[in-house]
Amino acid sequence: MSTPKKAIVIGAGIGGIATATYLSKAGYEVELYEQHAKPGGRAGLHQAEGFSFDTGPSWYLMPEVFEHFFALCNTTTAAQLDVVRLDPAYKVFFENGAPITIGADQVENQAKFEITEPGAGKQLRRYTAQASLLYKLSMKHFLYTNFQSIRGIFSLEVLRNAPKFLRLLGRSFDQEVSHYFTHPHLKMILEYSSVFLGASPYKTPALYTLMGALDFDQGVYYPRGGIYKLIEKMAKLSEEAGVTYHYSSTVKKIITQAGHVTGIQLASGKSASADLVISNADLHHTETAMLPSAQQSYPEAYWDKKVSGPSALLLYLGVKGKLPELAHHDLLFVDSWRENFEAIYETKTIPNPASLYISKTTETEPELAPKGHEALVVLVPLPAGVTLTAKMQKNLESQTISQIERMAGITDLTSRIVYKHTMGPADFKAQFQSWQYSMLGPGHTLKQTAIFRTQNYSKKVKNLYYVGGSTIPGVGMPMCLISAELVYKRIVDDKSNGPISHIKFDEKAST
Ligand SMILES: Cc1cc2nc3c(=O)[nH]c(=O)nc-3n(C[C@H](O)[C@H](O)[C@H](O)COP(=O)(O)OP(=O)(O)OC[C@H]3O[C@@H](n4cnc5c(N)ncnc54)[C@H](O)[C@@H]3O)c2cc1C
Repeated sequence: MSTPKKAIVIGAGIGGIATATYLSKAGYEVELYEQHAKPGGRAGLHQAEGFSFDTGPSWYLMPEVFEHFFALCNTTTAAQLDVVRLDPAYKVFFENGAPITIGADQVENQAKFEITEPGAGKQLRRYTAQASLLYKLSMKHFLYTNFQSIRGIFSLEVLRNAPKFLRLLGRSFDQEVSHYFTHPHLKMILEYSSVFLGASPYKTPALYTLMGALDFDQGVYYPRGGIYKLIEKMAKLSEEAGVTYHYSSTVKKIITQAGHVTGIQLASGKSASADLVISNADLHHTETAMLPSAQQSYPEAYWDKKVSGPSALLLYLGVKGKLPELAHHDLLFVDSWRENFEAIYETKTIPNPASLYISKTTETEPELAPKGHEALVVLVPLPAGVTLTAKMQKNLESQTISQIERMAGITDLTSRIVYKHTMGPADFKAQFQSWQYSMLGPGHTLKQTAIFRTQNYSKKVKNLYYVGGSTIPGVGMPMCLISAELVYKRIVDDKSNGPISHIKFDEKAST
């Protein structure tokens, strides 16, 4: 009689949960070890005094990727979540000049661009058309691939568009945006998405202008109840698929024998054997702390040459009274736009004032705060590798709140804060063993994109794989879901380049 092979997944981040689900459906016996008491990782939940905050992600972009995950679990987004399209999608405040609200209607957005810069309405149409083409080609040929087959990558469709791709490879995100627009406010609106990539628009390849297809073309969505609802549903589907979860179980070591993975050892001293191990933990930590140096494919010296995405200070604020000045998503952009990116990515200094982001989920769901209150999450990007002393953090907090008062015109915000919780660089290290205290993982520079990004398997230990934001295709919830599909494909030896249509039983899943 055949017995199922055993797979261990380390970490219940979005990538770990999805990988565990796929492998269980493919016939493996899957055990997942998570150091915290609940799933989600960076996509966490903080609840206190009647306020409910998603601790990490708040933008639900690329809805088709979530739909695809649910389809592979034989269900649909609609059956699992109540996802609504936000309109307005987001509001942008500047130091000088009126705020600009981006909505769901393209024609209205074009008119707003036209008011700011004559001709920019038409340019926005051209820009988003190119972004949408790049996005579609990337989804079809470059995102759902482990680059194991050259054939799909050099398909007719890709070759036909090769001149476009090559032109974009030779320039930065900022250069491409500047080719279409001159007004600094419009350029900021189109460039802010590079922050989602953990990189500066001055260093990110122009190929990533495909991000313009997300907020402008596809739209910005929100699952009612918050992002954590998605995590809860994913964990439930995964358990239904047969995955066994072990919470509050920190993995200390990956055990190997003769170049093969054989299991894991927990901090408690217990160990568990496995035929496959897939780590969703920070990849720098997995490689440099869980494996002996002889077994490390990516030792410390490898990371010395890599570029980390930014860290952040996050403020979770309960505010008394309503804040009609703010939309669900708000971006505060400062005039020293370029200097901000240089401070974060080059000089590694804390920008002042900093461009920052505010999420106000109570705009869409007032019930996430006590009656007559708002729940805000403020994100201030910080350089990777920098920690804050208690005094620095306190100063940065009050500087940030004063900046919101000034830029969003909420003059009495300080006095209305009734609840505050914070998360800073040291928390990213303590809670996620994050390399360089990063909130995201390695940034998407050209040298850390696609085939150049750290791959999803160990080159030294057979049957040891990686999933999540540190590996391919990259950071962000949709990318981490795709990452799970890529690791599944690698394990079952599926070399195709596009999304798979179903999880198939793996012949190798039993002995
Ligand atoms: C502040 C912030 C805002 C963001 N905003 C967005 C957004 O708006 N939209 C978006 O799409 N994305 C956003 N992201 C990015 C997104 O949250 C991440 O890319 C994604 O959630 C990472 O998933 P992951 O699979 O890499 O796992 P992670 O979330 O990194 O989870 C890894 C898991 O492994 C566990 N683990 C680690 N080490 C061990 C160990 N030794 N033993 C056991 N368990 C271990 C951890 O506890 C954790 O649960 C944001 C991130 C942050 C931090």
